[in-house]
Amino acid sequence: MAPRGEGSGAPVDSMVAQLEKHPISSILIVIAMQTEALPVVNKFQLVENPHSSFPEGVPWVHYHGTYKDIIINLVWPGKDLTLGVDSVGTVSASLVTYASIQALQPDLIINAGTAGGFKAKGAGIGDIFLVSHVAFHDRRIPIPVFDLYGVGSRQTFPTPNLLKALNLKAGKLSTGDSLDMTPQDEASITANDATVKDMEGAAVAYVAGLLKIPAIFVKAVTDIVDGKKPTAEEFLQNLAAVTAALDGAVAQIVDFISGKCLSEL
Ligand code: SAH
Repeated sequence: MAPRGEGSGAPVDSMVAQLEKHPISSILIVIAMQTEALPVVNKFQLVENPHSSFPEGVPWVHYHGTYKDIIINLVWPGKDLTLGVDSVGTVSASLVTYASIQALQPDLIINAGTAGGFKAKGAGIGDIFLVSHVAFHDRRIPIPVFDLYGVGSRQTFPTPNLLKALNLKAGKLSTGDSLDMTPQDEASITANDATVKDMEGAAVAYVAGLLKIPAIFVKAVTDIVDGKKPTAEEFLQNLAAVTAALDGAVAQIVDFISGKCLSEL
């Protein structure tokens, strides 16, 4: 089993000290798929920004609006320019998160999306998880210290009051660039102690950490990875119902955040 390390979260702590006394005024919601993003766009009556500061020609989409005194920005990496499918995965998620932070300087990032869940760790279809830690499961570098860099484990911004108030489940998230799971991935996910598995979370956390923006991760379970059904089939079957639950959770989270400082979350 690969050795694991946990990020200290120190840069985020100093950020929090600065912002502690100010209510959160601007959030950035990062969502990988259009099916996941549109219900949230509609819920907050966000509008697409045709003049985003993104480079000319990229498929990334920026929606924005105001809700209860909070500026809400939502970014979706858009459809792949060649193949026309959602630009899921860590590369697109990192790029769009980086560009959005540079342009929008949010107080808080919310990465919302669907995920596979492990029933052995207590996950069920439709469950909503607030993620406590993220790590990668497909960056195997068996050289001392590089192994830890590959796993890239880090703690998310702690939100104990939010977790309690909304009665969400808490769990660790493991990220990789594949929807399926090889035996090697499975061993790493077990080493990461993950309850949910996605294709973007740890990448968003990496960029947020670099640029010192607190980030939280809300993941709704579309498929049970350690169950009998094939993942792709189960994912597509549950996507619509689970994204409805996800957008409800995001709305509750934004309601809870409204008027609060980071330290109150
Ligand atoms: N066939 C899908 C492909 C989406 S990829 C389509 O119709 O477009 C899956 C997306 O959902 C990714 O953004 C990922 O973060 C998330 N996801 C859901 N279940 C997952 C799982 N079991 N493993 C990894 N990612 C999962």
